[in-house]
Amino acid sequence: MAADATVAEQEYLESMFWIDEAGLPMTGANIARAMQLSAPTVHEMVGRLIKDGYVERNPDKSLAFTEGGREKASYIVRRHRMIERFLTDVLKIPWDEVHEEAERIEHAMSPVLEERMRAAIGDATTCPHGHPIVEGIRERGSLLADVEVGADVVVLRFENEAEELLHYLMDAGLHPGLAGKVSESDKDHVTIKADDGDHVVTYSVAETVSVRADPAPPPRAAIPEQLVLSSDRYGR
Ligand SMILES: [Zn+2]
Repeated sequence: MAADATVAEQEYLESMFWIDEAGLPMTGANIARAMQLSAPTVHEMVGRLIKDGYVERNPDKSLAFTEGGREKASYIVRRHRMIERFLTDVLKIPWDEVHEEAERIEHAMSPVLEERMRAAIGDATTCPHGHPIVEGIRERGSLLADVEVGADVVVLRFENEAEELLHYLMDAGLHPGLAGKVSESDKDHVTIKADDGDHVVTYSVAETVSVRADPAPPPRAAIPEQLVLSSDRYGR
């Protein structure tokens, strides 16, 4: 494996880790959609990731991490989430603004700064959007759009961290940990009735919000494309 991944390689590993974590097949097409890049660009970089030992190609042409590649990707993703948590909790930057900030600084940090940040966030286990910083604690949950009227829900995560979506979710009053009841749900809007009032989001945004629901809807066969499509560049 190469001594260290380039910034471009790290960005790919980050997106690929997310695709895998969200349960989407790790294919060139999904990487291209997630990163808003053309297929030839992705093809070329995937070739480099294979050559450098991070990724391998399955007989069916889909991609998989090598052991070292998965470790590297997991580290990059968890570092990104840790920085987001530092920006919200220590620097008090609103959570709908930290994803892009973290993208800008994550590749330029020294190990010493990283260690200091990690100490500063204390025992926080997720990024401000609900994604795990430590491994093995991800609760799968259901998509808010699938939950029936009358069910109790707790918001677990915002799956798509595109900045425009995070602004929308904040304006709607949603945040990880918000608890309430689905009081209305149709193909246009979904409403969560909580102690602090009604929170309404569009159906397509509700397809990007993971919740713990009781009763829980049956799991989806296909993952909605809202998870990867955005006018913004998509990253973890
Ligand atoms: Zn995040």
